[in-house]
Amino acid sequence: MAHQLPPLPYAYEALEPTVDTTTMQIHHDKHHAAYTTNLNNAIAGTEFEAVSVAELLAKLDSVPEAIRTVVRNNGGGYVNHNLFWEIMGPDAGGAPTGALATAIAQAFGGFDEFKAKFGAAATGRFGSGWAWLVLDGGELKIMSTPNAETPMTGGKKALLTVDVWEHAYYLDFQNRRPDFVQTFLDQLVNWDFVAANLG
Ligand code: MN
Repeated sequence: MAHQLPPLPYAYEALEPTVDTTTMQIHHDKHHAAYTTNLNNAIAGTEFEAVSVAELLAKLDSVPEAIRTVVRNNGGGYVNHNLFWEIMGPDAGGAPTGALATAIAQAFGGFDEFKAKFGAAATGRFGSGWAWLVLDGGELKIMSTPNAETPMTGGKKALLTVDVWEHAYYLDFQNRRPDFVQTFLDQLVNWDFVAANLG
């Protein structure tokens, strides 16, 4: 069965005024939809149609070279956006609590320190890409990936991510990526969802 574009888990206008409705419509209905279609087209008629996208990305080396780059780019774009929509939410933001707050404090020295380091990873990524909070062998780490690459390919579990492609923020923030990332961290992150990812 072909991979499906999941609907946004909230209304297109739900993140107004931070992220405008048009950005959400284009980002989900055009960009995410295109990744989904391109992934499905790349694997159509191959044995990889029956493989979960998580497995496909974890074992990219086993994907034939002829379709590997297309799968890396579009499979990565597909799963990264699946997570990104869930990471955000209306009436979100603030700070994590409970075990996640403790784990972040232990790993990074505190929530403010975490935000500074995550923000640096997101703003420092040259060109298009993503910043991440991941679980790597039981350890919380911050990283970034270029283009549509996903930490899943390196066996890491993604807990939190921000899309820093210009299509994610340009209508609202133009060239001010640091402002977008700061606003994302302060107002858009659904920390309950991130905590559930930590398990
Ligand atoms: Mn995007």
